[in-house]
Amino acid sequence: MARRKYVVGNWKMNGVSASIAEAQAIFAAADGHPAVEVAICPPFTLIGAMVAAARGAPVGGQDCHSAASGAFTGSIAAPMLADIGASLVIVGHSERREGFGESDADVRAKAEAALAAGLSVILCVGEPREVRESGGAIEFVLTQVAGSVPANVDPARFAIAYEPIWAIGTGLVPTIDDVAAMHGAIRRALSSYGAETAQAVRILYGGSVNGENAAELLGVGDVDGALVGGASLTAAKFVPIVEAAAGL
Ligand code: PEP
Repeated sequence: MARRKYVVGNWKMNGVSASIAEAQAIFAAADGHPAVEVAICPPFTLIGAMVAAARGAPVGGQDCHSAASGAFTGSIAAPMLADIGASLVIVGHSERREGFGESDADVRAKAEAALAAGLSVILCVGEPREVRESGGAIEFVLTQVAGSVPANVDPARFAIAYEPIWAIGTGLVPTIDDVAAMHGAIRRALSSYGAETAQAVRILYGGSVNGENAAELLGVGDVDGALVGGASLTAAKFVPIVEAAAGL
């Protein structure tokens, strides 16, 4: 089954109103590559303005709470994201797992809340450097998959992003063989959801993707797209990644 390439920008805590022009340039370029689904996840403060500027292109959040509402100062609920026009949300990014102590169970609860609110989900997994160096990366990531992927996933609204923590924002990238081995292992693990689901779920790679390395990374059989941090902040850096995905 052909899986449509998916290239997603994670703006993290970057961007102010003036940055919407950059998103407009990205979405305008993406219009020329309909074979690739291009989304941007800006900070919460920009979602509304970016949805208005995106002319139907997907805009998402970078996190959500697992509750639909309540006394959780500073948090944003999944139905609030949907209400403002977001169509997706990232959950379980390593900067949330590590910096905010989110467990696999927390991530699963957030993913379930997002799916219940009608959002698509990108669920992140990835190992720290010492685990990669000790040879335990696949086991570590498959434990995260088993613990954080919800019991029911619709591949039309659910993707996994494999992001080795040591590759995020560092310029370091795993070998192509290591990326292929990890993505293949994740897909095999998804077979517990049924063969059709396992084949249809998109598995993105994330970690220092740029215009130079995107074609090689996205050319790996089980790599269905990219989650991009730093290189998604400007059209000049992000569009070449979209073009690489379109050229495959
Ligand atoms: C990310 O944090 O999701 C990410 C992949 O960052 P970068 O592309 O900057 O490594």
